[in-house]
Amino acid sequence: MKSAVITGASRGIGKACAIELARAGFAVIINYKTNEAAAKETKREIEQAGGRAQIYQADVCSPDEARRLISKCVMEFGGVDVLVNNAGISLSKLFLDTEPEELARVTEVNYFGTFYASRAAAKEMLSSCNGGSIINISSMWGVVGGSGEAAYSASKAAVIGLTRALAKELAPSGIRVNCIAPGVIDTDMNACYSVEVMEALKEKTPLNRIGSAEDVARAVRFLATDDASFITGQVLTVDGGFSL
Ligand code: NAP
Repeated sequence: MKSAVITGASRGIGKACAIELARAGFAVIINYKTNEAAAKETKREIEQAGGRAQIYQADVCSPDEARRLISKCVMEFGGVDVLVNNAGISLSKLFLDTEPEELARVTEVNYFGTFYASRAAAKEMLSSCNGGSIINISSMWGVVGGSGEAAYSASKAAVIGLTRALAKELAPSGIRVNCIAPGVIDTDMNACYSVEVMEALKEKTPLNRIGSAEDVARAVRFLATDDASFITGQVLTVDGGFSL
């Protein structure tokens, strides 16, 4: 049985990815930072559907914790075939109002966290000689830049740069590295927006709807499996056409 680690899988897009990958036959590690109850609920839903899952608390900003997260997957399931770097935080703030601590925090979680978990997973994938697939969750703002989202956009653009560099470096070892850039997705991350703002975002989306976590999870499943065996270094935008 192949195995997958999904960071930030207690809620939102990460939860949907864990459920989708479990349905596709992967044994999954559900990582979370603080919300243990939500992580347990994700595990329960997977097991109820006949899948295999374990939860593991780790802050991806810590290189040691990221390493232990990957080790947990090796201990539980014998290796790591897929890593989904999904854990992330948002920051909606005007450029001139953004404080250094806020810039550091969003960069640490979104970019450093992706770097550390990828490094730990790549080490394991390299030593197993079985290849693997790393999927990074960026954002459409990392592609086109978002007004009022400078620090967030830059952290997500960094994830795209990392994806392309790692794809080149790890391809000779059979490790594929791709990126998904979601548009506006209905999760807790957007709960701060009013109904009016969400409606306006929907209207700006050519496919005329807000995306679901499952829309992103299906794209993750595609990139995780051999269906995407000749695809690496790509950014797949899942945004209903918003960034066109
Ligand atoms: P969400 O609902 O806010 O969930 C965030 C998840 O990340 C939670 O599971 C949380 O764990 C975890 N997390 C946060 N900081 C962490 C850390 N330091 N270490 C480990 N886990 C951490 O977010 P979402 O909307 O599903 O977003 C998931 C990803 O998609 C993010 O990278 C986000 O930037 C990206 N994205 C989202 C949208 C959107 O519209 N929603 C659009 C584009 C891109 P706890 O439950 O323990 O707090």
